[in-house]
Amino acid sequence: MTLLITNARIASENSPDLASGDVLISDGKIQQIGKGLTAPDGARTIDARNRILAPGMFDAHVHFREPGFEAKETIASGTEAAINGGITGVVMMPNTRPAIDSATVVANVLDIAKRTARIPVYTSGCVTKDRHGKELAGIDGMRNLGVVMLTDDGDTTGDPAVLLRAMQYASEFGMFFASHCEVPELAGPRALNEGLVSYRLGIKGSPACAEEIIIDRDIRLAHAAGAHIHIQHVSSKLGMETIRWWKQRGDVKVTAEVSPHHLLFTDEHIGDFDTNYKMNPPLRTQADNEGLLQGLIDGVFDLIATDHAPHTPFEKSQDFVSAPNGITGMDTALVSLYHHFVATGKFGWDLIVKRYSAEPRRLMGLPAVSIEVGQPADFILFDTEAETTFTKEFMKSRSQNTPFIDQTLKGSVDLVVLGTEILLER
Ligand SMILES: [Zn+2]
Repeated sequence: MTLLITNARIASENSPDLASGDVLISDGKIQQIGKGLTAPDGARTIDARNRILAPGMFDAHVHFREPGFEAKETIASGTEAAINGGITGVVMMPNTRPAIDSATVVANVLDIAKRTARIPVYTSGCVTKDRHGKELAGIDGMRNLGVVMLTDDGDTTGDPAVLLRAMQYASEFGMFFASHCEVPELAGPRALNEGLVSYRLGIKGSPACAEEIIIDRDIRLAHAAGAHIHIQHVSSKLGMETIRWWKQRGDVKVTAEVSPHHLLFTDEHIGDFDTNYKMNPPLRTQADNEGLLQGLIDGVFDLIATDHAPHTPFEKSQDFVSAPNGITGMDTALVSLYHHFVATGKFGWDLIVKRYSAEPRRLMGLPAVSIEVGQPADFILFDTEAETTFTKEFMKSRSQNTPFIDQTLKGSVDLVVLGTEILLER
């Protein structure tokens, strides 16, 4: 496949200004960038006027539910949702059934991905067996299959002594730890933030301190062990400030992520018990949203990740306390970030490329991709003039538990190219 993309505005992590030009792609690589390039024989030309040419996104926090919960999502449907949202690489969380806690399960998951996914799929592995927080998982065997991220995501690794031992052990192999931060004893039924809304609805809330305590605990453990700790889906402003403080000290390797929903929504959105606003950590307050956005702009957050968490309509139709935590995210992430933050001037494409494409790949030890001569073809075209309506039919995820359902937002992922293949074209 030879492609000539003309009149593109090219996004990079290094500058808020968009370069413009024509880009020639063949043999799965970017061959030439310039003005007025002519298409070689047999090449297809795409006029990219009004469109942004950006590297493919990379989501370092997704739940694909396979093996064990295929009614919610499979690796096949989850990766199609990724492509639908302009994402060309993902990292699975290990809270499947069986949990991804041994070489056998890792091998199985990677094999399914190889057969059914059109984009690279990486998986994290559990810190402890079956995420029970007691015995170490089969860390050695997982490492041999390329696993670098260890996490008991869905829960905190309860016993700090076990986590410290895992850190001391696995850091020697260059592995790092990703923490879901929550003191379970403080978290109540894990349904929503403790605050005015939880009082009004009469449900025991989960206070922000339940998250902040473990953010600090796990960074301290990493500090003691010389480990790299990555803090997942931060929802509280004080939690963000805790990470900022540790980063400024500079004597522990700490990275962190924020999810689009924690930037955009508050517990007020729950309204009349809408379970599409139920996730863990929960939505908190306007002040938290603003604090998290500032943290993202300041670089306290290294990456944006969705915590894509599909559940069936039946599960999400239960009462607010019983319904499972989580919302889908990959179909909607990029368009929602564009609509709410780029189109409104809060931040530029450079932040999106850095935090949702380059840094998540670097976290996983992968090279970042960019629109430069010699780079692999791994890019999207994003139409800034078009709109996307997130109907049930639009969504490629097997589940549609998202607050964006039936919303129309500015922006559209029009084209996704990876290697020699066009994965999506609208
Ligand atoms: Zn989590």
